[in-house]
Amino acid sequence: MNDQKIRVRFAPSPTGPLHIGGVRTALYNFLFARRHGGKVILRIEDTDQDRYVPGAEQYIIESLAWCGITFDEDVVKGGPYGPYRQSERTHLYREYAAQLVKSGHAYYAFDTPEELDKMRENLKHQEAHLAQYGSFTRMGMKNSLSLPKEETERRIAAGEHYVIRILIPENEEVRLNDLIRGEVVVQSSSLDDKVLFKSDGWPTYHLANIVDDHLMEITHVIRGEEWLPSAPLHVLLYRYLGWENTMPQFAHLPLLLKPDGNGKLSKRDGDRLGFPVFPLQWSDPVSNEVSSGYRESGYLPEAFVNILAFLGWNPGTEQELFTMDELIRDFSLERVGRHGSKFDPEKARWFNHQYLVKRPDEELAGYLKKELVERDLSFPDSYIISVVHLIKERVNLIPDLWNTSSFFFVPPATYDEQVRQKVWNPATMIAELLASFHKEATALAGWDHDIIHGFIQDFIVRNNTKMGQLMNPLRLLLVGSNQGPGVMDIAVLLGKEEFLKRIETGLELMPE
Ligand code: GLU
Repeated sequence: MNDQKIRVRFAPSPTGPLHIGGVRTALYNFLFARRHGGKVILRIEDTDQDRYVPGAEQYIIESLAWCGITFDEDVVKGGPYGPYRQSERTHLYREYAAQLVKSGHAYYAFDTPEELDKMRENLKHQEAHLAQYGSFTRMGMKNSLSLPKEETERRIAAGEHYVIRILIPENEEVRLNDLIRGEVVVQSSSLDDKVLFKSDGWPTYHLANIVDDHLMEITHVIRGEEWLPSAPLHVLLYRYLGWENTMPQFAHLPLLLKPDGNGKLSKRDGDRLGFPVFPLQWSDPVSNEVSSGYRESGYLPEAFVNILAFLGWNPGTEQELFTMDELIRDFSLERVGRHGSKFDPEKARWFNHQYLVKRPDEELAGYLKKELVERDLSFPDSYIISVVHLIKERVNLIPDLWNTSSFFFVPPATYDEQVRQKVWNPATMIAELLASFHKEATALAGWDHDIIHGFIQDFIVRNNTKMGQLMNPLRLLLVGSNQGPGVMDIAVLLGKEEFLKRIETGLELMPE
């Protein structure tokens, strides 16, 4: 393999937001190209005008940029093989469709939608490979193979709608060597005469994809497994267009599965499974429905990339945390598995945690500051940084920073009722105990971890109580729940004044 010449492409259709499986495909293309010093291209496949969704192209570009996946040639920066949007290349496809008709590998078909429905209805009891537009049916339909030559010409001259279909050969074995799946052999009779081009001037995906991969000198097609069934058709197109010698190599990536392994993780899963399936938040321009994204849910892009890299690939070692540069260094298609990869939301959070804790406290403090500004609150930077330092081990996603630490900035307004019932035990005279604890704490000289620790130990012994019996209710008054870091750490950071105030307020508010 001549590394210099490697050219791969990511070719999404702007029919909606990019699913995480799509981002993974883009990532693997990117890693493969960078690994081999080749080029990676972003091509927008927007020939299906009925499924075009405004905003989707921009969304795709923004998502990939957020991940740090960059392209050498794309719709924004252009390049020597442009344009990179298929809707701007339609003149090319017509020419190649005509060439296929001329060489006898494709034909005109005039069937109306009603006639096609009727054919399918008549065939519904047939075996699948017969129940399609192909060798079994085509001579009974209205096309340039079944109609007299003059009639075909007359219909075209009269401006009748037509499509150009590939003429699939009978009883031929179509072979391709997939870099991940090995040799794939398909009987041509299982394929149908797919539409390649329509009289309105638009090609279908299959034709446009092959023409562009050829003209853009793509060497490797790395894409999702859902395209594997189309690959034999693509092989035939390369052959019929005379491009077999420069046909790219194929690598079909394993499916992304739902966490329980039951079926493909699809766009429709949205937030239904409790985690996002899109990189960025998406609001549907028609239904206005909002689907959550990894970015807005508080994932760091480097964690997201690491998560995706492991959904199908593994390094063959114990190492799990990989920077983009390390992925580029170690990625290879040989280490991409054939079997579907289950998405594990728990593991995804674990990855994010690993990256979050590595970020400097000062940087994470920035996220808390934003929350404070929104609430019109102001605290010294040193205090915010100390809070981050104390809680960051408990944080998986960025919003957890605030959710696990808000009590450091806002005293509890209510007390968790379930926790209260558990820990506020009147039989242990808890209110009286805390009142005297408050009184003695007020008199303490100095306020640091050692002093507080010594005092609490001593208080417990003198009052003949247990650690938990004092600390759990105390935590409830300080935090409002049973959450948070160690009570003594909380006490130190809150400072003596605030600590005492929360006990006072708590004792006032707590029902008898
Ligand atoms: N436009 C196709 C898609 O949306 C591209 C498939 C391919 O890579 O060939 O996935």
